[in-house]
Amino acid sequence: MQVLEDFRLVSGILIETISIIAGDKMQLARKNVQNITPYVGGRPIEEIKRQFRLKEVIKLASNENPLGGSPKAVRAMQKALKSVNRYPDGQGFYLKKGLAEFLKVEPENLVLGNGSDELIDIIIKTFVEDDENIVTSEVTFLEYEIISKVNNKKVITVPLKSFKYDLAGLKNAISDKTKLVFIANPNNPTGTYLTKGQIQDFLKGLPEHVIVVLDEAYDTFIDVDDYPSGLDYFKDANVITLKTFSKGYGLAGLRIGYAIARKEFTSFMERVRQPFNTNLIAQEAALAALGDKAFLKKARRINAEGKKYFSSALKQLGIFYVDSVTNFILMDVQEDGVGLFKKMLEKGVIVRDMKQYNLNNFIRVTIGTEKENKRFISVLKEIKFDKRRAK
Ligand code: PMP
Repeated sequence: MQVLEDFRLVSGILIETISIIAGDKMQLARKNVQNITPYVGGRPIEEIKRQFRLKEVIKLASNENPLGGSPKAVRAMQKALKSVNRYPDGQGFYLKKGLAEFLKVEPENLVLGNGSDELIDIIIKTFVEDDENIVTSEVTFLEYEIISKVNNKKVITVPLKSFKYDLAGLKNAISDKTKLVFIANPNNPTGTYLTKGQIQDFLKGLPEHVIVVLDEAYDTFIDVDDYPSGLDYFKDANVITLKTFSKGYGLAGLRIGYAIARKEFTSFMERVRQPFNTNLIAQEAALAALGDKAFLKKARRINAEGKKYFSSALKQLGIFYVDSVTNFILMDVQEDGVGLFKKMLEKGVIVRDMKQYNLNNFIRVTIGTEKENKRFISVLKEIKFDKRRAK
């Protein structure tokens, strides 16, 4: 039984187990669905507590906000609970109005989504014909590829260059069959970003039939001057920008994000989305969170301090890490990342191995609170550098 538990522990392997169980039975799922490697998320805290009989478990695996949700959002949710017998406003009128004022765009430039995950799906369904393809990078947000494949669309991926999107490579990969290009800026899992100049150069001279999706899920943590905002391009170029309340605003559990684009794009995306795709609680919470500047400021400060701490601690340990503008750090642990992930799990620290990306010696760690960051570094030290105690 323990063997089976261990087997399941390793992220990704569960999938193989499922296909073995399926055995020789006739497969009824569509072929493209059979060929999909499922998305493997961070392991939930409660599950690890149960499994290892641990009292305290910290999760630094899903790039969540360690401070909880914005207090203003929490109050708005409590108020909204009274209305859960009603369907939400399918148009998200007040949230769109608030966002439009905040972003200085028209409400018609916005499409709300059940997380930006859902918007990726809506975009593909809205724009990509069956014989068209989608271009993105290797080692980027896996949902671009998974959702494309679910929709039976061909995906072309281009290798990274020095842990960054290779924009020249992406441009080369574009053909007359390419409809969408997904760019995560900053990128997950590397934490790297593309500059204003690089994005502008990329957009210049792109064929008219190509739409570029700039996924800015981590923009709330940015503190560099040359970061480009999709907001500057969507009026003149075929650009759709994705944003989310899951990271800086601390509302990952509510599932709410939005797309910004020209009305000619959003009007068709509105036809594709489900009528009540974002829920009533999430709409109210997101609107309140948008006005909670103090919370966002604190989240940014804690993140910047945590990043500084990680940098110096990792340097001291001689562990290579990729410079990050986000709330997570990709690091080369110089041993099998899955093995290390498992050892850390047993000690109540959940991180993310990078096996899905073929970065076998890497793990990705979300920046947490000061206490969580210290715990991670101390457990890492214990496992890697004090082999006797780790046994
Ligand atoms: N884009 C990127 C680059 C991400 O890393 C994530 C979340 N991991 C998402 C989009 C999805 O965010 P959401 O919670 O809004 O679905």
